[in-house]
Amino acid sequence: MTTLLPALRTGGTRPALRFGERALDYDALAAAADALATRLRESGADRVALWATPTLETAVGAVAAVLAGVPFVPLNPRSGDRELGHVVADSVPTLVLAAPDDQLPAALDGLTRVAIDAEGSGPAPAVAEPEDGEAPALVVYTSGTTGPPKGAVIPRRALAGTLDALAEAWAWTEDDVLVHALPLFHVHGLVLGVLGPLRRGGALRHVGRFSPEAVAAELRSGATMMFGVPTMYHRLAETVGTDPELAAALGRARLLVSGSAALARHDHERITAATGRQVVERYGMTETLMNTSVRVGAEPRPGSVGLPLAGVELRLVDEDGKELDAWDGETIGEIQVRGPNLFSGYLNRPDATAAAFDDGWFRTGDMAARDPDGWVRIVGRKSTDLIKSGGYKIGAGEIENALLEHGGVRDAAVTGEPDPDLGERVVAWIVPTDPQRPPTAEELAAHVAERLAPHKRPREVRMVAELPRNDMGKILKRRLGTAP
Ligand code: ATP
Ligand code: MG
Repeated sequence: MTTLLPALRTGGTRPALRFGERALDYDALAAAADALATRLRESGADRVALWATPTLETAVGAVAAVLAGVPFVPLNPRSGDRELGHVVADSVPTLVLAAPDDQLPAALDGLTRVAIDAEGSGPAPAVAEPEDGEAPALVVYTSGTTGPPKGAVIPRRALAGTLDALAEAWAWTEDDVLVHALPLFHVHGLVLGVLGPLRRGGALRHVGRFSPEAVAAELRSGATMMFGVPTMYHRLAETVGTDPELAAALGRARLLVSGSAALARHDHERITAATGRQVVERYGMTETLMNTSVRVGAEPRPGSVGLPLAGVELRLVDEDGKELDAWDGETIGEIQVRGPNLFSGYLNRPDATAAAFDDGWFRTGDMAARDPDGWVRIVGRKSTDLIKSGGYKIGAGEIENALLEHGGVRDAAVTGEPDPDLGERVVAWIVPTDPQRPPTAEELAAHVAERLAPHKRPREVRMVAELPRNDMGKILKRRLGTAP
């Protein structure tokens, strides 16, 4: 396999990373990463943890581990001691890489700490990346949306495969500058957001905590693309219609990409109306990296995640695991994928790994339909978003999209609850825009009646102050209705 980060040797004084006020060009990044990679190799460590704050140090630590060929486990600094304890006990890192000033929690007390020096190291001998494409590059824990996070072992060829397929789909080049506001401990922010630009030889600018103002400032000063999660696009959609400066800034972006969860149709439409820009949706998972995307230049279809990426095979199967030959935009099946983008397995979980595959195809647990030309429409997760009611299979997303189009609804989630007559009944959880004047049940019923067939309309509406979400803004449906 070719090297993952060739630009480290050829990028020279081109900008590579910027986090707030601190920046490194390719030469400086290579110097810092070579020094740390040498240390990692000399340590003999066979797996290391990376304290993944949104800092220059984390990016340097990730690059150094990739160079050294020492698999690393990015840790979420916001997870509590219990989850960290689980991840450390499961992945058994030899040491933890962290920025010099970071305070590490008690759960990491047993680990030797190695300080990441992002700016101080002088030139160091160049470290050659390992050749083996099957060698594990990192272990990423899934988001824990549906259960305890599982460690996905991601080999080097999966990183190369996914990043090159995205480059083709998005015409991503060394001239691109990415605005980044995502955390660095999941695939989206780390693999796509950090390793992605560096593999291309382009630049990334991390703005810290997401804000429409920070993103707009970067787009005004030459950034070309933004990667975000739907909650970020929701924030942009809320204000872009009445903020011409924000609209103009977003309008300058070459590419606005959304992923990690479904983008609400209403948010997509509001952004496009105000900026003339479409939001490109892509679909992926920790275990598979990226599976599908809308191509740059194609006319996006709100609610669709586009076509399988180069090298990715995708099929839909019915409940018996039989392949569906349906291309009608309606028939729903579970997505299975195959390709060089797949992980090697879950760490320490041979049973879960075996259960995740069907004759070489990875079972995503996500349900979708396909348009006649192959564009994929995600309906939701089999476990939480597919409601079986009165003999119908109903996707929660379509109902959520309809509810979100009501001005009095700021946020919405739909679940199925056991029902003696229907099997399951549709329940809507609503965060009102104005808690003093929440929409009435009658108002919402009239609103959905204009948009949804009778069997899809919520039988019950529950007002809540907030929806439980994780760090990526994903709704934790398993927590709805239970104590937090
Ligand atoms: P866990 O597996 O621990 O329950 P998780 O599935 O949320 O958590 P990730 O691997 O981060 O962990 O997320 C992958 C999932 O995110 C996909 O299976 C899919 O359900 C959802 N997803 C990602 N991109 C999209 C998208 N564009 N549209 C709809 N859903 C998406
Ligand atoms: Mg998952």
